[in-house]
Amino acid sequence: QPTVVFDNVTFGYDPDRTILHGLNLEIAAGSKVAIVGPSGAGKSTIARLLFRFYDPQAGRILIDGQDIRLVTQVSLRAALGIVPQDSVLFNDTIGYNIAYGRDGAGPADVEAAARAAALMPLIDRLPKRFETEVGERGLKLSGGEKQRVAIARTLVKNPPIVLFDEATSALDTRTEQDILSTMRGLAEQRTTISIAHRLSTIADSDRIFVLDQGRLVESGGHLELLRRD
Ligand code: ADP
Ligand code: ADP
Repeated sequence: QPTVVFDNVTFGYDPDRTILHGLNLEIAAGSKVAIVGPSGAGKSTIARLLFRFYDPQAGRILIDGQDIRLVTQVSLRAALGIVPQDSVLFNDTIGYNIAYGRDGAGPADVEAAARAAALMPLIDRLPKRFETEVGERGLKLSGGEKQRVAIARTLVKNPPIVLFDEATSALDTRTEQDILSTMRGLAEQRTTISIAHRLSTIADSDRIFVLDQGRLVESGGHLELLRRD
């Protein structure tokens, strides 16, 4: 049974301009998928609908067979984690940043969260101490280090579905590959949806959805799509 289903989803921000045209997507539980397509295709709109920043005008979005409109915000937030492109960190320690998301809905025990996070290879590889304050008065993290903290912050809540919205697109390809290879070890049982544009980052996806002007124009494995070109 697929974890995430877009069932004939039609959506526009304004009534006179449709952005997604009867979109159908099926994302298998535990799979790793990528959503690609030119700028303006509607990729981020898919993410916003999944998080219910907006609801579709027609069609349904299902998580584990349930219409997300019938799911409480609390359980929706528990089911989904997101890593955006430009993560904003608190001027506080790395540990605090991981324990508390931007929404402040982190685990109550900062130390327990820090311990859990410290186990993660993502953080092991940060050259700086866990307790050091980040930001203006403390240490400056590079873009790649910031994203490692942001990813850890999302994963520490253990969401079964994680969405990366251009999470590594702003980084150089080497840093990106480095983070992605760490991620591979961490995301085993999780459903992972990556919105991306570099082909090198999506090559190992189980399935790639190619979106253009709010329509699914192709989907399949990486090699399958290359063969069709
Ligand atoms: P861009 O404008 O991002 O430099 P293109 O216009 O060539 O790249 O491609 C548009 C989108 O389609 C990109 O996100 C790219 O990753 C994706 N894409 C192009 N060719 C393929 C393919 N063979 N398989 C999967 N995705 C592809
Ligand atoms: P992508 O992520 O593929 O670049 P988006 O989902 O961000 O594309 O945008 C799809 C279309 O929706 C674009 O034409 C964009 O201009 C439009 N759009 C995005 N956000 C809004 C908004 N808040 N209000 C109106 N139109 C929007």
